Amino acid sequence: MFDHQSIFSFVLPTKIVFGACVSKNLFAEMEELGATRPLIVTDRGIVAAGILDRVMAGLPSGTKYQVFDDVEPNPKDINVSAGAEKYREFGADSIIAIGGGSPIDCAKAIGVLVANGAEHIKAFEGKNKPSKPLPPLVCVPTTSGTGSELTFSSVITDTNEQYKMTIKNQFTAPKTAVCDPELTKTVPAGITAPTGMDALTHAIEAYTATCSEPISDAVALYAIELIYQNLIPAFENGDNLEARSNMLMGSMLAGIAFSHSDVASVHCIAEALGGMYDLAHGTCNAIFLPYMMEYNLDYCEKRYARIARAMSLDYESERKGAEAAVRAVKQLAIDVKLPSFSSLNVDVENYSKLAAISEKNLSTASNPRPMSEGDYLEVLRRASEG
Ligand code: NAD
Repeated sequence: MFDHQSIFSFVLPTKIVFGACVSKNLFAEMEELGATRPLIVTDRGIVAAGILDRVMAGLPSGTKYQVFDDVEPNPKDINVSAGAEKYREFGADSIIAIGGGSPIDCAKAIGVLVANGAEHIKAFEGKNKPSKPLPPLVCVPTTSGTGSELTFSSVITDTNEQYKMTIKNQFTAPKTAVCDPELTKTVPAGITAPTGMDALTHAIEAYTATCSEPISDAVALYAIELIYQNLIPAFENGDNLEARSNMLMGSMLAGIAFSHSDVASVHCIAEALGGMYDLAHGTCNAIFLPYMMEYNLDYCEKRYARIARAMSLDYESERKGAEAAVRAVKQLAIDVKLPSFSSLNVDVENYSKLAAISEKNLSTASNPRPMSEGDYLEVLRRASEG
C-alpha cells in the first residue's frame, strides 16, 4: 500500500514508440518534430555492428545529416564539447542519438550546450541548471540498460576531477524514444549482462528509495518481473527476440521509475568507481547491488519481500522474502558471469576517497538506510571480502 498522504506529480515528456523494426519509421518521428538536419550521435561500436547504416537506411535519400561517432564509454566532457562544435559547424537543427547510454547521454549534453549557448557542460552540473529546452532529440536505444532514452538525466565524466557528474532536468528528456528490440540482438553476452543488471538496479533502487511514489512503484515492480525473468534467456541466446523485447521494455520501465523516484546508494558507489577507474557502469552496479541490499535489509524488509513476489519467489515470512530477494539478485549476477569486486583490483587506499565521493552524490539522500562516509566504507569492505 502507498502512503495515502503522499503528494507527487508525474510527467513523462517523451513519446515512446516501441516494437520490432520500429526504427524503420524514424523519419516519420523526425518529420513530426519538424527536424530536417540532424546531428547523429553514436559510437564506433554501433557503426561496427552495422546498426548506424541499418537505422539511417530508413531516412529518405537526400536527407542532410552529419555523424558524430566519437563518443567514448562513460562519455567524457571533452566528447560533449567536440559534439557541440560539430553541431554548430554543420548548422544542425536536431539530434538523433543511436546507441546505449553513452551516446544518448552525450547527445543530451550536446543539446544542453547548444541550446544554452555554452562551451562546457560543467556549468550545468546538478539539478535544474539548463534554462532552455534542447533542440528536438530522438533516441534509439541499442542496449537494454540505462533507460536514458526517456530519463531526465545525463551522466558525463569530468576528466579533470575524474568523477561522473549528473545533469538533471526535465529539459534533458528526449522528445521521442524509438525502441526497437531488433537492434539489441547484436549486443554481446558480456554487455547484455551488466546492462541488464543496471536496469534491475534502477528498478530495485527506485522501488525502495525514500522518495518513491505509487506510479513509479507500479512501474518498478513490473520492470523487476520482466528483467528477472528475461536476463538469463537474453544472455544465453542474443537472438531470442521475446527475451530482448522484454529486456528493452524492462529497462525502459525501470528508467521511468527512477526518473520519478530516484536511484540510491548502489548508484552512488557505482558512479564514484566508474568515474575513478573508467569501469562499465552496469558492472559496478551489479557488484554492489546485493551488498547494498544486505546493508539496507532492516530498513526496507517489506519492500524487499514485495520484490521477491515480483520475482515469483516463494517465502514464509516478510523477513524470509526479503532475504530471498537479496539471494536471488546475488545468484543472478553469478549466473550471468559478472565479476567480483576483488577481481577489479581497486586500490584499498582509494576506498576512503570512493566513500567520500559516494556520500556527496545527491542520491545518497534517497537510500532507505541513512548513509555516512563510514557506512559506504563498510559496504566497500564487505564487497571486497566477497
Ligand atoms: P554503452 O552505451 O557505454 O555501450 C557499451 C558498449 O556496447 C559500447 O562499446 C557500444 O558500442 C556497444 N553496443 C551498444 N549497443 C550495441 C549493440 N546493439 N550491438 C553491439 N554493440 C553494442 O553502455 P550502456 O550501459 O548502455 O551505457 C552506460 C552509460 O550510461 C554510463 O556512462 C552510465 O553512467 C550512463 N547511464 C545513464 C543513465 C541516464 O539516465 N542518463 C542511467 C544509467 C546509466
